[in-house]
Amino acid sequence: MTEKSQPEHTEPVNKERISPPEQRQPEPGLDSKLKPQADHGERSYQGRGRLEGKRALITGGDSGIGAAVAIAFAREGADVALAYLPAEKSDAVTIASVLEDAGVQVHHLPGDLRDREYRDKLVHEAASALGGLDILVNNAGKQISVDSLEELSDDQVEATFDVNIFAMFALSRAALQVIGEGGAIINTTSIQAFDPSAHLMDYAATKAAISNFTKSLAEQAASRGIRVNAVAPGPIWTPLQPSDGQPIEALPEFGHDTWLGRAGQPVEVAPAYVFLASDDASYVVGSTVHVNGGKNQP
Ligand code: NAD
Ligand code: MG
Repeated sequence: MTEKSQPEHTEPVNKERISPPEQRQPEPGLDSKLKPQADHGERSYQGRGRLEGKRALITGGDSGIGAAVAIAFAREGADVALAYLPAEKSDAVTIASVLEDAGVQVHHLPGDLRDREYRDKLVHEAASALGGLDILVNNAGKQISVDSLEELSDDQVEATFDVNIFAMFALSRAALQVIGEGGAIINTTSIQAFDPSAHLMDYAATKAAISNFTKSLAEQAASRGIRVNAVAPGPIWTPLQPSDGQPIEALPEFGHDTWLGRAGQPVEVAPAYVFLASDDASYVVGSTVHVNGGKNQP
């Protein structure tokens, strides 16, 4: 293993108000094709050793929020296993090279979370690759915008629930078997759990389920010394959005309705995960950190 290191020259986080051009990608979208490119903290995030020696599995770690979390975790000293769909390999390879520059171990565990065989093995495979597991970040998600319930197929509802919440049950169950005292599980919910957009009916319902699941799992896991919490992002510029996550014509205005008047960048969400994963959050259990640029929230 190489020496753990921080980037020599850091640049500020991109806090510009972006107006992405109308664009569409097939699902899953790729970060490499996003216009404009998103900021995952490649040039800005500086670690302070807060996750030294920890081992983390991040689902959807190839792109968007998951990629920013992976970079932050690596620069905080954690070894990381990235789970993602095989079609996203190019994004995963790009992010992995940033993690390797931080001098940590990186493992690739591609597969489809709808495949029960894959998802039942994933946590154990991550633990065997990393020599144990301390942190599970349940971050993979599927979001397809559909105007009305009449147009929303049962197949889509099933797929959205499968990826967003059913897989979370399976991965968390396995994680309870391998994560020891002092470990953490962090679930990605959404502002949609509390303030749903009508065109994201199935997606928003899964996010409400995730928020609820986080609380009951947190209570179960607390007695084992495992802390379970959630992060609820607002509008963040990631490949989820132009791959049918929003109506195409809504993209130029994406996030402009927040109190800050702009979408967030993935790097702006990552510190919430670092906090919840680290011992700084030793008394934080069953909570949700809202990172949304200001919007009505519980
Ligand atoms: P993203 O597209 O970069 O990440 C989603 C990831 O989910 C993909 O990279 C993919 O690896 C994974 N995924 C999707 N379907 C899968 C499947 N069948 N099997 C395995 N993996 C699969 O987009 P993102 O916005 O970074 O999304 C990450 C999480 O953040 C999601 O849970 C999303 O719901 C949540 N979120 C995003 C926003 C936002 O505005 N971008 C807001 C709130 C919550
Ligand atoms: Mg991706």
